[in-house]
Amino acid sequence: MAIWNLGSINADMVYAVPHLPGPGETLAASGLERFLGGKGANMSVAAARAGSQVRHIGAVGPEGRWAIDRLTEYGVDTRHIATLEAPTGHAIIAVEPGGENLIVLLPGANRAISPERVGSVLLDAAPGDLLVMQNETSAQVEAARLGRERGLTVCYAAAPFDAQAVRDVLPWLDFLILNAVEAEQLQEATGLTPDQLPVSHVIVTLGSKGARHFDTDKGISTEYPAYRVKAVDTTGAGDTFTGYVLSGMDRGLPMPQAITQAMRAAALMVMRHGTADVIPDLKEVLAARF
Ligand code: ADP
Repeated sequence: MAIWNLGSINADMVYAVPHLPGPGETLAASGLERFLGGKGANMSVAAARAGSQVRHIGAVGPEGRWAIDRLTEYGVDTRHIATLEAPTGHAIIAVEPGGENLIVLLPGANRAISPERVGSVLLDAAPGDLLVMQNETSAQVEAARLGRERGLTVCYAAAPFDAQAVRDVLPWLDFLILNAVEAEQLQEATGLTPDQLPVSHVIVTLGSKGARHFDTDKGISTEYPAYRVKAVDTTGAGDTFTGYVLSGMDRGLPMPQAITQAMRAAALMVMRHGTADVIPDLKEVLAARF
């Protein structure tokens, strides 16, 4: 089986600055580092590192070849990533010595993916394959609808949160993943608690407290406590969790094992700096002692 990920690809440009610039201020940075980012790319790398066959559906601009190469290097099938006449999605991140940051995000090519392209790519998907999306690309609703029609298991990570975006894909979902803040926002928008949502499986991640899985068909909810680790950087923890849960499902693991593996992978992630480039592989995840 395969995991199809309609997902964002970003260049995270991290500038070291003496302080965060104010309005009208021109400030010299002392350094620049470029990382592969975007929730979609992070999830693809996590699922591939966990051992799944991952086909990324996405887009970059003419200068984004390096991002495609990086994903390929990490084991992701990149043949369905288009090069469009739009800038590669990127985040300009200024970080001051204390760690406080300022971020300007340009979605660029990620929001220029056409429903027609997604439709033609998904013709290759087989019933039983998984389809995952996050809210950083265009064509999510069409992908979700097509995925359902073709008998795929349709999964959605509701980040960055937008109530209307979730409402639009909700009718086609089998699986929804949210963090605690997003779950609260969705409840405010719909009046529904996670167990009342019309989706068979809902996972709410709870940061250092772990995660809760709602099997809404059976009316069962299960809490999974997080591993106790020293957190130094929580970016990418949620994306790694999602990629590993999906891969667990893809590899035929029962839900408790899939979630436990995902929590181990996410725990390793919060112990290290960086995102896509440092996502652990399954061997590391299984060998970790917490
Ligand atoms: P997001 O990054 O999307 O906001 P969370 O903060 O809920 O998501 O984190 C996702 C998962 O990462 C959690 O369910 C947990 O398994 C793991 N995690 C996050 N923070 C910690 C932490 N401080 N210690 C251990 N595990 C953590």
